[in-house]
Amino acid sequence: MILHLKEEVQNNTVACSECFCDHGLQLTAVNIGIEDNEICPNCKSTVGKKLSLNQLEEVAYHFFVYGSFIFCDYGAFPEIQFNNYQETSITINDNLKKDIRIFEESLGIGLFYYGPRAWMYGDIEPLNDLLDPDKRNKVIKRIIQEYPNIKITQNDSPLYRIRKGENLTYNSKYFDSPPDQFLGSGRLDSKGFPVLYTSSDLELCIHEMRAALEDELYVATLIPEGSLNFLDLSIILKENESITDFESLDIAVNMLFLAGKHAYEITHEISLAAKNAGYDGIVYPSYFSNARKGLMPHQALVYGISNRRIPQFQTIEHSKVAQNIAIFGRPILEGKVKVHSINKLMLTKVSYNYLLGAVNEEE
Ligand SMILES: [Zn+2]
Repeated sequence: MILHLKEEVQNNTVACSECFCDHGLQLTAVNIGIEDNEICPNCKSTVGKKLSLNQLEEVAYHFFVYGSFIFCDYGAFPEIQFNNYQETSITINDNLKKDIRIFEESLGIGLFYYGPRAWMYGDIEPLNDLLDPDKRNKVIKRIIQEYPNIKITQNDSPLYRIRKGENLTYNSKYFDSPPDQFLGSGRLDSKGFPVLYTSSDLELCIHEMRAALEDELYVATLIPEGSLNFLDLSIILKENESITDFESLDIAVNMLFLAGKHAYEITHEISLAAKNAGYDGIVYPSYFSNARKGLMPHQALVYGISNRRIPQFQTIEHSKVAQNIAIFGRPILEGKVKVHSINKLMLTKVSYNYLLGAVNEEE
């Protein structure tokens, strides 16, 4: 947005964390600004963390844009945006109104309520078809055909499976897929179709478990016997250049796996179709993908297909995906994986990443 300015101007200090009244905005500026004893040209403070134009713009993105995300059934979008063309039109408390002047004057921007593009909240053709039971099968067939397979063997990273329990003993049977009466409540298992949920990322397993400090936790380390063949839904699907955001199967599948329980009816059917196609399981992006990688909510989706398609960005986009590895059936009982070790797992610290945002003023 401020690229037209010379680099040295972009890096000059224009404000500091002490310039702001709103505490959340101050903290955001403290996180982004740099320590420097020079006098702030705006508020004359020497102790505030100093902000260049670039950093001030970053503060605006974090606090106003990322801090205003609205999560939909599928997808998400920021409620507030800014640009160089619009006057500020958001309704906000008086302290923040004063604070916003610093952004308006230094960056030449105005803040406004953003009208999202419909694909951002899931209005995507393949996703709409998946939601329609009459059209669902056609898209599921495409998913099975167009996504690649990935083999996982004993030479890959081990898989972890965590259980909460009381006084579990060293017995591999406790770590297989849940018994029949508990089936149907997970993302991929259904009545009569058990699934073992694992990941090669131990911290991700703890997140997925929604474990708390007081829980008694056990972790089994699992090694595949031979080679297991998975449908890989965690990749960025290469799509024809003529495909728009509104037609993208790639974005539809990504949103589906980042959605909550309301998506399970569809993911159960994808899971059964993969089983019928001969796969041992599915690799899929985690609901906690963004949180685990310390990213902004749905950042990958907000930038849409353009980011997911450009080759040099594909490595970055793929590194945003934390992988879950689900194995069909009862793989321990069936001898598809062996339990290498069982250990107790103590949580010593639980930490959250967060960002602060603006709250709308009452009309
Ligand atoms: Zn200042």
